[in-house]
Amino acid sequence: MKQIRPDYYDHFSCTADQCPITCCQEWKISVDDHTNNCWKKLAPPTDTIPAKTRLSAYTTFKDGTRVIALDQNHRCPFLSENKLCKLVLEHGDQVLSETCQVFPRETHTFDTHEEQSLMPCCPAVIDLWRNCETLHFPKVSDLCSPAASDALLFSLRSRLIALIQRPDRTPSQALMECFYILRELYHQDNWDTGTLEDYFSEQTLSELHEAVLSAAPALEDTIIEDNEILQDLAVNYQKEGLYQSYLTPVLAQAERLADAYGTAALSDQWKNFNHVWEEFHPLLKNVLANELFSDLLIPGGNLESMIIQMQWLALEYAAVRQSLFLTWLEHGNEKLPYENVRDYLVIIMRMTGYDEDDIYEYLENSFEELVWEWGYFALVVC
Ligand code: SF4
Repeated sequence: MKQIRPDYYDHFSCTADQCPITCCQEWKISVDDHTNNCWKKLAPPTDTIPAKTRLSAYTTFKDGTRVIALDQNHRCPFLSENKLCKLVLEHGDQVLSETCQVFPRETHTFDTHEEQSLMPCCPAVIDLWRNCETLHFPKVSDLCSPAASDALLFSLRSRLIALIQRPDRTPSQALMECFYILRELYHQDNWDTGTLEDYFSEQTLSELHEAVLSAAPALEDTIIEDNEILQDLAVNYQKEGLYQSYLTPVLAQAERLADAYGTAALSDQWKNFNHVWEEFHPLLKNVLANELFSDLLIPGGNLESMIIQMQWLALEYAAVRQSLFLTWLEHGNEKLPYENVRDYLVIIMRMTGYDEDDIYEYLENSFEELVWEWGYFALVVC
């Protein structure tokens, strides 16, 4: 089957023991059946704690999936002191579960082709994207011949990616415009290539841009909403004691921020933060463009699932920005080091790496309507 992938894909390499936020801790590391069967016959490295006779004895079940049982510090028991994998050192790469071998690569299989991309849950991927001026994604229609209805969705996705990447849009503005177009199409009985050409014509996009600028929600309302979104997304991780070094300070700051709602000082701080945040717009656009390529249109997806994925991306964007706003406040409103931006991107993306069913469940439980009004979307990302 034809495989397609973005231009950056082959440039990734794991930084292993140099990694600042290794994927071998505070995460569900799945162990597939084939690997587990192999592990039933293999002894663990001798210095593994606690000592057990077979590798398979280090697995457990979490949320219905077989995973490696982490130690009391939420680390993989095979992670050595110097942050190398004891299993690889003793048995080679082939002994690893599929998850460990593949991460942070992601593959989606469509009827006509496979799409490969990298996930933003890995700091080396964020470093890679930081050094790319812009990411380039293949156009499906140039390489394969999907059915007409699918071709339309792939074309829509390509146009939305191009909109996100426009240099004359901030990430927030581009997201709001993308969502507006998705909702408009969602409410049309029929749309085709001609409709897309009209929606993405320079004149229509220019009018949409003006309309979005004039409809921006009040600053204070966005600060309040995003604070609550971050707190809500973090609550279960707090209960489990995960990502504490990242979540504890920002959630404490989020509590303090709640007391300052509506004050002029807070609005000024938000405006000042946004000046600092602007420096990272190119990186953010790369992250968003990649997420549109990898997750907006999943196999079997349709316009509604694209809207749901776009809403999820809005929550992720809001949570990343809010956590960095809180970090910036915590550190005296001065600089925002790149390492902070990278680390919170990675952590929030790990926290929100839900599969499609879980995203639907989260949205259904958290919001009155599954498909948001444009005004609410704008409030979240503005
Ligand atoms: S998070 Fe990325 S760079 Fe770090 S150990 Fe995992 S794959 Fe390697």
